[in-house]
Amino acid sequence: MAVQPPPADRRTVIEHVAIATVDADDTEYARGHLVLLGNRIESVGDGPAPRWLDNVVRRIDGEGHLATPGLVNTHHHFYQWITRGLAQNDILFDWLVALYPAWARIDDSLVHAAALGSAAALLKSGCTTACDHHYVFPRGGGDVLGASIEAVRELGLRFTALRGSMDRGRTDGGLPPDHTVERTEDILISSEAAVDTWHDPSFGSMLQVALAPCSPFSVSTELLRQSAELARRKGVRLHTHGSETTEEVAFCRQRFGMGPTDYFESTGWLGEDVWMAHCVHMDDADIARFAGTGTGVAHCPSSNARLAAGIARVPDMLRAGVPVGLGVDGTASNESGELGTELRNALLINRLHGRPDALTVRQALRLGTMGGARLLGRDHEIGSIEAGKLADLALWRIDGIMHSSIADPVAALVLGALPPLTALFVNGDTVVEHGNLTTADEDRIALACARAAKELASRG
Ligand code: ZN
Repeated sequence: MAVQPPPADRRTVIEHVAIATVDADDTEYARGHLVLLGNRIESVGDGPAPRWLDNVVRRIDGEGHLATPGLVNTHHHFYQWITRGLAQNDILFDWLVALYPAWARIDDSLVHAAALGSAAALLKSGCTTACDHHYVFPRGGGDVLGASIEAVRELGLRFTALRGSMDRGRTDGGLPPDHTVERTEDILISSEAAVDTWHDPSFGSMLQVALAPCSPFSVSTELLRQSAELARRKGVRLHTHGSETTEEVAFCRQRFGMGPTDYFESTGWLGEDVWMAHCVHMDDADIARFAGTGTGVAHCPSSNARLAAGIARVPDMLRAGVPVGLGVDGTASNESGELGTELRNALLINRLHGRPDALTVRQALRLGTMGGARLLGRDHEIGSIEAGKLADLALWRIDGIMHSSIADPVAALVLGALPPLTALFVNGDTVVEHGNLTTADEDRIALACARAAKELASRG
């Protein structure tokens, strides 16, 4: 059952709470208040809420808590929830080759279970808006994109479905086996249908669609070009994997005679409506071109570490003006599936070059909130706590044993263990309460995911 938005005239008041708004001035309140009206933030400020408010259906004492914007996940593959813990010691290309055969056997019912698991893990770690980059469409597998959309709707996450694709199989010099790829013309027809069926561009939309050919080594040049044209004609955004590994850079040089950034530019893939996952292997000129064109980066620190891909140059990107957000990436390369912990991992990994100020705790929080909102083209709706924006926010408990001795609440969230979530609001509705989903039975999801993983393994 889909979550219903709260009535437009009902207020929720949160008081006595530390607030990191992540607005343009990084405004924070040590002890402030928040008023939610329907699915919007009505007001935020210092001290207690005004006394005159009517229609208050809920009052929350936020003593000992930090309120932040809900986190925004800009890169993920939900179906991978049922292929976790495999190919544990491989680099990307070997890991993909090991997993493609299993992924080629998924269908809509397995994807539905996997998407419930992925979305649940995101919500339970503070994420209120997420993407699912789905690029495996087995023949006879049913409506796998629709299955993921249905699962997310059940749990109440704000969502961007990324209609992914692969059309460059081994015969054409690509990495995926031929039977895992689709025909270019079929992809373009299905992509347009996905936009027409599901994309809702309105303010407050719970479901948007973007086009997302998978990577330079699994899609044709023609598909990249035509996807860019189609996306621009339909007014939707573009996403792909880029510059993830040295092997990918070598592939592009050998196959196209240029590096990934030049290749993307030659196919119409740099621009304010494009964001790419990883971007680990970028030189100064690549970063300048991303900054100059407004092309965004989904930084996925845990996945990059898991696959030994390298460390993306996030501080240099931020200095140059590249829009950067955070991504969990698929859970076959980041088994935790949590977005909240990526704040900490982004900060720690970017300091490994020997720069203690490479990323501050507040920059890390900004990456995970406003940074992601900008990549999705939704920074006027979500990503910060400001009057008029959508009521997507997290209430973290920081007075427990794990955090009470850390004076700075943002440091408690980013440097400490991921705090318990007392409440998570999406569109004004509480979807997590005291750490648990309010919309579904978690044990039922766990069982469905275990069964789906076993079923997929047995199809080998
Ligand atoms: Zn990915």
